Amino acid sequence: MKKEIGFLKELTDLRATSGNEGSVREFLRKAYEPVADRIETDGLGSLAAYHGSEGPKILAVGHMDEVGFMVRSITKDGYVRFSRCGFFFVCGALSQHYTIETEKGDVDAICSLGPGTEDKGFPQIEDLALDIGCKSEEEARELGVRVGDFIVPKGHFEALGKDGKYLVNKAWDNRIGCAVALRVMEDLKKTGHPNIFIGGGTVQEEVGTRGAATLAEMVRPDIAFSLDIGTADDVCGSKKEEAALGKGPELTFMDNMTLSNRKLIRFAVEVAEECGIPYQTSIMKRGGTDAGKFQFANTGIPVLLVNVPCRYAHTPTSMIHYDDYKNTIRLMAEIVRRLDGNKVQEICRF
Ligand SMILES: [Zn+2]
Repeated sequence: MKKEIGFLKELTDLRATSGNEGSVREFLRKAYEPVADRIETDGLGSLAAYHGSEGPKILAVGHMDEVGFMVRSITKDGYVRFSRCGFFFVCGALSQHYTIETEKGDVDAICSLGPGTEDKGFPQIEDLALDIGCKSEEEARELGVRVGDFIVPKGHFEALGKDGKYLVNKAWDNRIGCAVALRVMEDLKKTGHPNIFIGGGTVQEEVGTRGAATLAEMVRPDIAFSLDIGTADDVCGSKKEEAALGKGPELTFMDNMTLSNRKLIRFAVEVAEECGIPYQTSIMKRGGTDAGKFQFANTGIPVLLVNVPCRYAHTPTSMIHYDDYKNTIRLMAEIVRRLDGNKVQEICRF
């Protein structure tokens, strides 16, 4: 467990705002090299790693990007205004540490509170600015800060709780999906499977699931799984009516862009029950995932949202549970092993 948690720390500490996923792509490419039969990238930078040479194409990937910001302007007195790349919660953005990735190198920053914040509640994200300890626009420019530079929250990894299984860091959304896909392929390589399994990762999910469209066009899968995070609502003060940490992967029926295929959900539930893998069912109240684009591959394909429950997503202090991660890997590997040409035809047929 310790070694695997070290791997997850390394993966979530990497910086990859939407459109700037290079570090995660290279990390995954290296990790897939000993496992995959071949690896390719599409024109936007999504990564596909293939295992198996015949059978239906089963795609199961997470997205490599994370929510962050981009420099919009520098004020006369040396503050950095920014725009969101993806839906970053205002309450999670305030008083946090950031890195501005400039051509001259990294510039450290904190998010200022702005005048009167304590009286008026949360400001609009557009009203916030980064404080980089500069007196003037010229000073900020001397450090290398320019309009268009990417801004990423700093990672701060912690393993909480008595058994250290409550894992906190930025970017669980969605490095955890990338990690699941990789571990599933490693497992499938050991045991064998009757499919062409495609893992890897997409780009630009947080700004509109763009890399999913190009990856689906390149791979042309028969069935696709979007491996992402789901909203755990077992937070303090909630009614705890849906998903909770530690109770297994979420099989999600619907988000704003996708209806998971019902036959595929039934199949996943059967597999989970047969193998004694805990699972939860849920509906995503807001947002869409890559499955929304995967479903349009070919003339339309069955998709399923498989989500690792996550608290405080889209903030730098998101939290997952280690057991949910392991159980998502188990479930996905068992699903792919049990899918074959006949089963896929049965699921796809109308
Ligand atoms: Zn996500």
